[in-house]
Amino acid sequence: MDTRFTDEQLALRDRIAKFAQEVLAPEAERIDREGFDMDHYRKVMDAGLVAVPLPKEVGGEGMGTVGRCILLEEVSKVCPSTALSYLVGGMSLYYPGASQELIDKYYMPWVQGKILPAFVFTEPNAGSDAAAISTVAAEDGDEFVLNGKKHLICNGASADVLNVFAITDPEEKVSRRLSVFCVPKGTPGVKATVQPGMSLAGAELAEIEFTDCRIPAGNMIGERGKGFGMAMSGIAGGRINAAACAVGIAAHAVEDAVAYVKEREQFGKPIAANQAVAFTIAKMRRRMESAKALLYKAADMIDRKDPEAALYTSMAKAEATDASVYCADENLQLHGGIGCLKGCEAERIFRDAHAARIYDGTTNVLDMVISRDMLK
Ligand SMILES: Cc1cc2nc3c(=O)[nH]c(=O)nc-3n(C[C@H](O)[C@H](O)[C@H](O)COP(=O)(O)OP(=O)(O)OC[C@H]3O[C@@H](n4cnc5c(N)ncnc54)[C@H](O)[C@@H]3O)c2cc1C
Repeated sequence: MDTRFTDEQLALRDRIAKFAQEVLAPEAERIDREGFDMDHYRKVMDAGLVAVPLPKEVGGEGMGTVGRCILLEEVSKVCPSTALSYLVGGMSLYYPGASQELIDKYYMPWVQGKILPAFVFTEPNAGSDAAAISTVAAEDGDEFVLNGKKHLICNGASADVLNVFAITDPEEKVSRRLSVFCVPKGTPGVKATVQPGMSLAGAELAEIEFTDCRIPAGNMIGERGKGFGMAMSGIAGGRINAAACAVGIAAHAVEDAVAYVKEREQFGKPIAANQAVAFTIAKMRRRMESAKALLYKAADMIDRKDPEAALYTSMAKAEATDASVYCADENLQLHGGIGCLKGCEAERIFRDAHAARIYDGTTNVLDMVISRDMLK
């Protein structure tokens, strides 16, 4: 594998880093404190960032998975909450299989940065055990009636379109039981309540209740009964994004630590002059760079459709999220008492590092995937 970025990828990295510094950095602390802000997020949409990884045929820039990881890494170095709002949407569900009407109405406006979507799967009793979903979509003439409760849904209260998984065929085995529907904002019978976050507090998580919510049958995305497989491939596909966000957070922690240990003086010299401190930042950098190497190896495998891409992506996500938590924890320790104060950047990095170990497959779930592959 060629480990160098192409000139196009390097130009993308520089463009996103500049955008992140100029547009996102000044707002990162505020949105962490105040929560998701649609006007702030609209800048990401207006800058055309949604289109970066998408194929040119649909109006994207064709930068692929490696391009999306570059984007998410650079954004996460500055504002991982914004990265989370960007990456969770489930719009990959529309291809292949959605009707042209749904593609024109929801997918293309998303590519153009006009709408914000949400991927609505998790329920209070169905997290890692995805097969335990109980939200029902009962067929009634040319409509389906949704009833049930979801939670921890990113963009859940602000999204223009909810991509909702529900049971349409309860008698079928789980792989044939679910279908997925798009539910536009303002549909009667939908009640969303924001769930304020400790981690990635500038993104929006919400609980969503569906009560006799009527959806036209034409809003079903893809084939009836194929929802479970679509959800699993969406979640597996999202793992590389979570890994990229984690590498960005780890890199931010390393940068923050280096700046602080050079500046902070105790015993008449910078704390960096102590070998124990210098070795800590060396180890942080090693962990971050190892995770980054695995991230881009897996991303490249996805773009090359390598049969082992899913396995490497699971390893990349587990390693990157462990590395980001490690680096964020050491950075906090190096900050001493001020790291424990609200408003200190090290404190925000520490809180943000934790979430990526949960979404798109917890570390234990990934280790199940990895070990099953090794032991088969
Ligand atoms: C920031 C964030 C954003 C999210 N965004 C979305 C979203 O947009 N849409 C959406 O649908 N969902 C979203 N989620 C939900 C996420 O997918 C779930 O939190 C995740 O699947 C874990 O489920 P759970 O929280 O119910 O944890 P649980 O499944 O209850 O797991 C709790 C703990 O038990 C462990 N565990 C569970 N089962 C096993 C087992 N068999 N063996 C070993 N250990 C096990 C887990 O590893 C974990 O440590 C988001 C979550 C977060 C934190």
